[in-house]
Amino acid sequence: MSDIDIILDAKKRALNGEKLDRDSIIALLEIDPESHDAEILGMAAREVAESVTGNRASVWASIGVDYKKCAMNCDFCSFGQKWGLIDKESERSTEEVIELIEKFVTQGSRWVTLRTTQFYGFERLIQLIKDIRAEVPGNYEIVVNTGEFDEEKAKILAEAGAQVVYHTLRLREGTDTRFRPEERLETLRSVRTSPLNLAYLVEPIGIEHTNEEIADIFLKGMEHNAILSGAMARVPLEGTPLANHSQLSERRHAQIVAVTRLAAGRHAPDICVHPHSRLAIEWGANVVVVETGAIPRDTGDCDCEWHGFDMSTAKEYFENAGYVFFSGEAS
Ligand code: SF4
Repeated sequence: MSDIDIILDAKKRALNGEKLDRDSIIALLEIDPESHDAEILGMAAREVAESVTGNRASVWASIGVDYKKCAMNCDFCSFGQKWGLIDKESERSTEEVIELIEKFVTQGSRWVTLRTTQFYGFERLIQLIKDIRAEVPGNYEIVVNTGEFDEEKAKILAEAGAQVVYHTLRLREGTDTRFRPEERLETLRSVRTSPLNLAYLVEPIGIEHTNEEIADIFLKGMEHNAILSGAMARVPLEGTPLANHSQLSERRHAQIVAVTRLAAGRHAPDICVHPHSRLAIEWGANVVVVETGAIPRDTGDCDCEWHGFDMSTAKEYFENAGYVFFSGEAS
């Protein structure tokens, strides 16, 4: 089949509610991102986005709660203790987190994520969720992005007021990270059997990852019933072991987003791109991240929105790509 035939077949299957098989995903990833065919792929993904999302786009606000050295030393993360990039540790108080969440919810964020390092106390996280629910009214969803947990803890997270867990098997887990892949998969299984929804991006993607690796990691999310997928590019950070690999080009990143859109079809209707990219939104992403606080892709504890990408800029991106902004309150 030609590239165009592969794209049209993938679009048809996505619209029919089918998931794409591994070989088709790899074939789409093999298209040259600089080619005209890649643009056709992007347009197909945007059409599927319109159909499966009702043309609605939303913001995922993320708050890095603790800026702490982490003994897990993942090769791409600025928090790794061994890389020595954190001068002064800090942590946001409950009041500060609540203030930020009030701001993001008022501005229309559909999800608010509490991003904590691997060893943030579980009891503290539960109390934080309860405090947020008590103080900030609204139809927003609380997402936790934290360490490993079992089924019992997943249930406690849901009872406290969380709806979504962000968790993944990362690219080259166990090679670029100090985790056993099985540990990460156990947490994914705990989410699957809990009332919590799973958000799972293919990440952190660098130029060294093969199409096969990207396809396999994406499919692992689908296997665990992810309702949100997409692609996160690794940001090369001076001082971390992977700093010498340059960042993906915007077109390659957008292509991977487009492939996840076609491959997830109606199974994961929300497709996220991170860091933000106008092209990826034009090629099928309907979710972007606005983040603040401790950010593993940067050094320092960010007081405002990372790289100035705030809620109003996100809304402008969506509008330019023809989406209707959706805060989650109307459905
Ligand atoms: S990615 Fe998570 S587990 Fe790895 S070093 Fe950073 S905070 Fe620790």
